[in-house]
Amino acid sequence: MVQRTEKHKRYHYENTLPEREQFSDDTERVARLLRTCRSVLFITGAGISADSGLPTYRGAGGIYDGSTTEDGIPIESALSVDTFRKRPGVTWKYIARIEAASRGRTPNRAHEVIAAMEPLFDRVCVLTQNVDGFHAAAGSTNVIPIHGNLHDLRCTSCSYRTSVPDYAGLELPPTCPSCGAMIRPGVVLFGEQLAASEVERLVHELELGFDIVFSVGTTSVFPYIAQPVLQAKSRGVPTVEINPEETVLTGVFDVHIAGRAANVLDDLWRRYRAGHRPDTKGS
Ligand SMILES: [Zn+2]
Repeated sequence: MVQRTEKHKRYHYENTLPEREQFSDDTERVARLLRTCRSVLFITGAGISADSGLPTYRGAGGIYDGSTTEDGIPIESALSVDTFRKRPGVTWKYIARIEAASRGRTPNRAHEVIAAMEPLFDRVCVLTQNVDGFHAAAGSTNVIPIHGNLHDLRCTSCSYRTSVPDYAGLELPPTCPSCGAMIRPGVVLFGEQLAASEVERLVHELELGFDIVFSVGTTSVFPYIAQPVLQAKSRGVPTVEINPEETVLTGVFDVHIAGRAANVLDDLWRRYRAGHRPDTKGS
């Protein structure tokens, strides 16, 4: 009980106690399974950063769920490459809001646990749809930010690139200090191709394969997010979904743990480490 009280105080999560009771058996199963694994793939989405206070854009509580923006277009249109070409100011306005929502926020226990796993496994890879840079900030070194990073900016005309800690002081829409053309955010806009370099890294990682695949806080709507799960499934690799809600892929996963990322991963890590012999290295 003491531990639960401390945990509750530390993270201020709603519904911590009922959730823990609900997912404890499955989490124990996964912890045991994890001890037999040497390589791990984490696929993460907005749900993992929601525990840092970032809004999710889809699903329950999504700030744009089922509604249009004040510019009269859906958020997906505002953040599309077509809109950026025709009305860059509109795209920048909503990109800046996403940045503002993440400003001053930090990685949470879920990001920390994933980073802490790296030294204990041969390979831990993070395929993330999040553009907040939290996995790298938490210390993960093998991260594939498949949708880019909000803090990377580049010129639409010349080779100018920069990285900013936040958008404070950035005049919107920003122009290139080198050639005066429009600066764009280093994120993949709707209707745009994924960065070839990141796709190549993903393909390479999937070719190497994994002993277990986790999907954390994502609805898995994009094919390149669902595909690694389906591939793992077809190869008999265990798959685990951590999400408070069911998703289109829930039926495919071997285990669905209905909980919030930070709660579940903290619990999983504690159980995993409890099963380690004292003479094995730990973090
Ligand atoms: Zn330029």
